[in-house]
Amino acid sequence: MLQGVVPFPPEYAAMCREKGYWQDQSLAQEFDAVFKQHRRRVAIIDRGHQYTYGEIDEISDNLALNLLELGLKPLDPVVLQLPNVVEFVFLYFALQKIGAIPIAALSTHRHTEVSQFVAISKATACVYPESQGDFAFGPMVKRVADESPTLKFRIVLGKSGGGEHSLMDLIANPPILPRSQLDKIKIDPTDPAIFQLSGGTTGVPKLIPRTHNDYAYNSKTAAPVCGVTGESVLLLVLPIAHNLPLACPGIQGYFFNGGKVVLSTSTKPEDMFALIQQYRVTHLKVVPALLIRLINSPAIGDFDLSSLKVIQSGGQRMQPEVRLRTKQLIPSVTVQENFGMSEGMLFFVALDDPEDVRLETCGRPICPDDEVLLLDEEGREVPKGETGELTCRGPYTLRGYFGVSEYNARQFTPDGFYRTGDLMRLHPSGNYVVEGRKKDLINRGGEKISAEEIENLILMHPSVQNVACVAMPDPNMGEKTCACVILRTGQQLALKELTEFLIGREIAKFKLPERLELLNEFPVSTFGKVSKKALVEMVTGKLAAEAK
Ligand code: AMP
Repeated sequence: MLQGVVPFPPEYAAMCREKGYWQDQSLAQEFDAVFKQHRRRVAIIDRGHQYTYGEIDEISDNLALNLLELGLKPLDPVVLQLPNVVEFVFLYFALQKIGAIPIAALSTHRHTEVSQFVAISKATACVYPESQGDFAFGPMVKRVADESPTLKFRIVLGKSGGGEHSLMDLIANPPILPRSQLDKIKIDPTDPAIFQLSGGTTGVPKLIPRTHNDYAYNSKTAAPVCGVTGESVLLLVLPIAHNLPLACPGIQGYFFNGGKVVLSTSTKPEDMFALIQQYRVTHLKVVPALLIRLINSPAIGDFDLSSLKVIQSGGQRMQPEVRLRTKQLIPSVTVQENFGMSEGMLFFVALDDPEDVRLETCGRPICPDDEVLLLDEEGREVPKGETGELTCRGPYTLRGYFGVSEYNARQFTPDGFYRTGDLMRLHPSGNYVVEGRKKDLINRGGEKISAEEIENLILMHPSVQNVACVAMPDPNMGEKTCACVILRTGQQLALKELTEFLIGREIAKFKLPERLELLNEFPVSTFGKVSKKALVEMVTGKLAAEAK
C-alpha cells in the first residue's frame, strides 16, 4: 500500500468484504466489465460527438500504453486540470488502467495550489489545457516542474511547446507497447484510485485517498438512489473531477448502469437548456448557485425541458423556495438534495420521500453500515433532535488524510470516526437537517475556501496588521468571502489593491475576497479569540442596510 495512506482496520475491511461492499477489484477491472457489457452503447457526448463504451475502452487502452511508454508507473500521482471534455474521460480511465493516481485539481487552480499538490503527493505528471481565457498554463506548470524534484511529465491538451507532451498525440498515436503490458499491471484495490481534495479548513490543502474498493462502492450505491438506469442521460457541467460529478453517482455511476453522459464546459443557461432539449437529458447535477441562475433565466420558457426527471443538488444548502420554483417551472422534475463530501459519506433524500421531508432535509446515508454520530463540544452524543457535529464512519469514508498523521489525530476519533465540522440535527423522518458548520471556511457556490489560507496570504501585504476572513451571505452564490482587516498605522488599502496583491500570489480566482472591511479592532469572544460570528453579523447587517 502507498505510504501515507491510512488503511481501514483489518476487521473492518473484512466486514466490508463479507457484506459485499468491497469487491477487491481495481477500478480498471470494474470498468473492464462495464466496457465489455455496454460496448456498443453511447457513453459520452461532447461537442456534438458521440463515443461508445467500446471506443472509450480502446482509446483509454491506447493512451495508457503510451503513458507507460512515456515513463508513467503504477501509483504515480498525476495532477489533472482538464475541463469537462472527453479527453478527461479517456485520461481518467487510462490512468486507472496503469494504476496511476489522478489528483482531482481544478482548471481554476494556479501556481500556489498546483505546486502544493505536487509537493504533497510527489506527483510525477501534470495534465492541463493549453489555455483558459487569457491564462496560459504552460509557463505556470513549467515553473512548478523547475521547482519540483519529482514532476517529470508536462502533458498539455492543445499545442505543445518545448518539453511538453501532447495529450492528443498520446491519445492518437499507435502504441509501441503490446496490449499485454496492461494485463501485467497488478493494482492493490486498497490503494488510492484517486486523490480528491479536501474543502480544507487549514492553510495547506489535504489529499483524500479514495481507494478502488470504496470508490467503486460509492458510485454503485449512489446510482439507484438517484434513479439512474441504462436509459438515464446526465448533463455534466460542474467541474468534472470533483467528487460529485465524477462519482456520486457521476460519470462512474452512470457508466456502471450503461447510461449516457453529456459533457459541457458552458454553464450559460441557454447552452444548458439547448443540450437538455437536444439529448433528452434526464438528470442534471447542480450546486444551488447554478440552479438559481437557471430558474432566473428568461430563456427557460424557450426550450423543451420535459425529459428532465431529477435535478441533484449538493455542495451547499439549498433554500426550499428554489426547489419549489424549479418544480413550478419544470413540472417533470424532482429536485433531490444531496449532502456529500469528498471524504466519503453521502446523504441523499429518497426520490419518494414525502414532499415536506424533501424540502426540509438533506437526506440520509446510503449504506446500512454508514454510522452517524452527532456530538457536542465534549464529544458526547447530543439528545435526539438537537444539533451536534456530524461525525461519521463507513465503508467508503476515509480513515485519514494522506501523509498528515498529526492532523489526522485531531480530525478523527480514536475509533476512526471522521469529524466533519458540519452541524446537523436528526429530523423525525430519520433524515438529517444541516444547521451550519463549525469549520472555518467559506462555501462559495459549492467551492470551499479555507479562511486560514487566504488570511495567511493577506497577512503578507505590507499594509496589513491583522486579518479575519469570513463568509458573507450572497443571494446567488450562498456565500462570498469578506476580508476584515486591521491596517498598520497610517496605511490605506482598497479591495482592488488587495485582490491584485492576491492575484500576484497566484491562487484560484474563486478564493479572492469580494468585500473588504477596515476595522480598528476585532470583536473577541469570551475566550479572547477573534469572534468571527460577530464579524459575520456585522457584515450581514451592513449588507442589509446597503440593500435598503
Ligand atoms: P466537498 O468535499 O467540497 O464536496 O465539500 C463537502 C462539504 O460541503 C460538507 O462537509 C459540507 O460542509 C458542505 N455540503 C455539502 N453538501 C451540502 C448540503 N447539501 N448542504 C449544506 N452543506 C453541504
